[in-house]
Amino acid sequence: MSASTSGPSTDPLLPRLAAIVGETHVLTDADALEPYLHDWRGLYKGRTRAVVRPGSTAEVAALLRCCHEAGVPIVPQGGNTGLVGGSIPDLSGTAVILSLRRLDRVREVDLSSDTMIVEAGVTLLAAQEAAEAAGRFFPLSLASEGTCTIGGNLGTNAGGTAVLAYGNARELVLGLEVVMADGAVWNGLGKLRKDNTGYDLRNLFVGSEGTLGIITAAVLKLFPARRDIVTAFVGLPSPAAALALLDRAKARLGAGVTTFELMPRMAVEMVVNHIPGNRDPLAGAHPWNVLFEASSPSDPDLRNKVETLLAEAIESGEAEDATIAASLDQRDALWRLRESLPEAQGHEGGSIKHDISLPLSRIPAFIEAMGAALERLVPGCRPLPFGHLGDGNLHFNVTQPVGADRTEFLGRWGEVSGVVLGEVVREGGSISAEHGVGQLKRDLLREVKDPVALDLMRRIKSAFDPKGILNPGKVL
Ligand code: FAD
Ligand code: ZN
Repeated sequence: MSASTSGPSTDPLLPRLAAIVGETHVLTDADALEPYLHDWRGLYKGRTRAVVRPGSTAEVAALLRCCHEAGVPIVPQGGNTGLVGGSIPDLSGTAVILSLRRLDRVREVDLSSDTMIVEAGVTLLAAQEAAEAAGRFFPLSLASEGTCTIGGNLGTNAGGTAVLAYGNARELVLGLEVVMADGAVWNGLGKLRKDNTGYDLRNLFVGSEGTLGIITAAVLKLFPARRDIVTAFVGLPSPAAALALLDRAKARLGAGVTTFELMPRMAVEMVVNHIPGNRDPLAGAHPWNVLFEASSPSDPDLRNKVETLLAEAIESGEAEDATIAASLDQRDALWRLRESLPEAQGHEGGSIKHDISLPLSRIPAFIEAMGAALERLVPGCRPLPFGHLGDGNLHFNVTQPVGADRTEFLGRWGEVSGVVLGEVVREGGSISAEHGVGQLKRDLLREVKDPVALDLMRRIKSAFDPKGILNPGKVL
């Protein structure tokens, strides 16, 4: 146990935790705790009695038994890149943060079954690399992949830029090993693609944000390596045109369409202006842009197919211009343009952020209606709908008017969100498409979720965690 800045801890729980994981893995020193106590966006700050870093499933189970007996809350944490405050404890200082990052082994790669078993603390990047080393592909892809972990990806049912072809984290997992609130271990590390033997427990844990159990390992699906990848950047007149292009691409390439990311003109300008090393890949300025990627395990003709597709789109007026990456460097540059956007936006002052999904067909009208409604509410504010258009998922961020006061603008979060999310709900959309509920959307969830669904969720929670020690104050 590291020494606390306020003198040796008298907390009787800590020696018991240290007996399980070893003293060096119970952190109480203020400096050591600091990175665990705030979220990536800086929206949440918490307190904890200790960060505990187990090194095995057996240690996680023993820690849970101990905390369950003592009634001590546990906040599971992976890479701490979550965007809804789910991995940050409250300010009471009663919770223990359970960091899963030392569970970082790839336990097995089974090529015949097309699976690998990885522990919860393996970073997404390391999982992708393990798949690649085995000649396979693991498709989950997020800008935070160097830091976020498989446990966090499954805890939040992460999405990202390849959902269109491969699905969310949920669709990429076959089995789980989970430690229950009382320390019991569910060995659900099955590799079966067919198993209709009752309730789907795995899918209850995926997306439960640490409120039902602690995921310690997972069986992930592997896919054939992609040998042919074609990446293009397209200029378009409107979101409706982007949807028409998406239709055309799916009709031509089917599941070969792996990425379809929307960016308004202003987003391209923000990245080019603020993040060195970026430039607009197209000669003219286009109101909207799409980062488009098609891929295949083996299709030497793919580039020609994409060229034909884009030529037809330009001819029909769906697209105004397009460029196809001619090298890996050019491909990286197109991706960098998309992935630098959240950082670039930070240079323009405050942004009120939403992670929404809508039926695809409703998106163009939604974007137009929001533009007008937000201009009435905060004249000069800059709506920036971007992201995973192919999945009907937009990061509908609203950036402050040029020169406005940041704090004053962010003070209107409730009003702006009320307008955006009110319309989302009316349109049958979701207030959280991929980031989860955590603390950020907990109150909102109660307002918008079907009451019967909410009641069922509460009953599931109390069946799995009757003492309420798992990530209290999150989701429900
Ligand atoms: P954490 O932040 O540590 O935890 C997230 C939640 O999962 C918390 O509620 C935590 O309690 C719980 N949890 C963590 N580990 C476990 C476990 N082992 N068992 C049970 N519960 C657990 N998300 C997307 O979906 N799509 C994106 O495109 C995307 N892009 C991002 C880009 C950036 C730059 C950043 C910073 C974040 C992005 N995110 C995105 C959000 C975030 O990276 C993902 O939610 C990621 O899955 C979180 O993983 P993590 O290991 O950091 O989890
Ligand atoms: Zn996203």
